[in-house]
Amino acid sequence: MRKKIGIIGGGISGLSLAWYLKKFAKEFECLLFEKSEKVGGVIGRYQQEDLILDSGPKTFRESSCSDLLSLIEELEMQNEIIESLNASKIRYIYVNQKLCPLPLTLKQFLFSSLTFKAIPSLVKEIFIKKTTLKDESVGAFARRRFGNYIAEHFFDPFVMGVCGCDMDKLSIGASFPFLKELEEKNGSIIRGLFKRKKQKNNKGLFNLKGGLQTLVETLERKLEKELIVNCEVSEVVKELSGFRVKTVKGDFFVDYLFLSLPSEGVKKMKLPFEIEKDPFFFQSNSNSLVGVSVAYQSKQHQVKGFGYLVPSKEKEVVLGVIFDSEIFSNLDASNYQTKLTLIFPASFIDLGEEVIKEKALDVLSRHLAIQKAPDAFKVFRYPNALVNYPVFHKSSLDQIQFKIRDLDSRLILAGNYMHPPGVNHCVKNAKTIAKTFQERL
Ligand SMILES: Cc1cc2nc3c(=O)[nH]c(=O)nc-3n(C[C@H](O)[C@H](O)[C@H](O)COP(=O)(O)OP(=O)(O)OC[C@H]3O[C@@H](n4cnc5c(N)ncnc54)[C@H](O)[C@@H]3O)c2cc1C
Repeated sequence: MRKKIGIIGGGISGLSLAWYLKKFAKEFECLLFEKSEKVGGVIGRYQQEDLILDSGPKTFRESSCSDLLSLIEELEMQNEIIESLNASKIRYIYVNQKLCPLPLTLKQFLFSSLTFKAIPSLVKEIFIKKTTLKDESVGAFARRRFGNYIAEHFFDPFVMGVCGCDMDKLSIGASFPFLKELEEKNGSIIRGLFKRKKQKNNKGLFNLKGGLQTLVETLERKLEKELIVNCEVSEVVKELSGFRVKTVKGDFFVDYLFLSLPSEGVKKMKLPFEIEKDPFFFQSNSNSLVGVSVAYQSKQHQVKGFGYLVPSKEKEVVLGVIFDSEIFSNLDASNYQTKLTLIFPASFIDLGEEVIKEKALDVLSRHLAIQKAPDAFKVFRYPNALVNYPVFHKSSLDQIQFKIRDLDSRLILAGNYMHPPGVNHCVKNAKTIAKTFQERL
């Protein structure tokens, strides 16, 4: 009889892990347990005839997504890739009730009211000594190296938009390790960025026709035999040479078990060695977000670009707005001229749809002068979807990894708290875990 591998959690972390385990550990039978009726986790799509509003992750930088791209290639989906429009390189910050473009050239940089004030701090940064601290918050890092103006106008909205969380609560080493590395290797972020710019081919963004859900659907087809949906795992019991996985569909025995679910999911389960009660999971928090997609058949604004972020000091309800139709023109076959996604903070998660709609339309009217009611409107709620990486997250993660390995090397952590945010990191982590597993056998 073939030995069995169990994977808990069918988001992109679990799906890509199932794909790579199937490839690298062929001798095993693999079972993936997913709580909801569909796999993909936060990745999804809402469809209204030809119109597609994709939810969750929707932009991927070509230069930093090599693992996601190689998965797409392995699945023979290269023809599904769509590239971003050139104008999407322009990004804005909403300051003093105006959209201020982030400069793309040195000339724009010197003459922009937004960045002009930042020049002295940027010059000073080159000469600030690197820290000996092992970790610190993103806010502390930003203020130490760049001062308050840059921290508040650039770091704060970026962190709120990407992680849904206050920059003073997040670890720089765990959430943005490349910035920490730039300081460690070059002594200065600015010096490091100049070096990187020379080395890196700064390509654009990509997505897939129909959104990333197209990738999920392909994985779903290829992993048909492995997936068990509507199958919440409530408890895992240690047995002599493996685990009993208790689910709503009955008990399953597996020889090896991978936990591919976020820390909130781990906390809610009963696990061997009481892993869920370890401070790493027990005290961990995650952040919620609400995304509101709106679409209009006619052109509603003339601003070209990716979208904008809003610094906390502006005291606005919205964290940012993505100009979906200005980034990819061919995501679907519809001829809707304007598609936008508004991102709202955790405080919106329990609000009713009508209240959210009212607030979203108010933002669009004040920020982009859009007065018309949308032709399509959809609220996407993401409860506890974003990992919160507190300071020293990485060392706490190492500790719990060692502890589990010492107790039982058949139980393997594979959740998204192991790496910085983003789909590429999920895929890369899954591939590394599957390869390491094969080498260990
Ligand atoms: C609004 C938003 C926008 C984003 N935008 C981008 C972007 O543009 N680019 C980018 O690269 N990244 C983006 N991200 C981040 C990216 O989406 C995530 O890093 C990634 O999708 C996480 O996948 P995951 O599989 O680890 O977790 P999830 O997608 O959360 O999946 C976890 C799965 O585990 C299942 N589960 C939980 N408990 C149990 C249980 N007890 N039993 C069985 N199953 C269980 C859940 O149902 C779920 O399907 C975004 C995230 C959000 C929320």
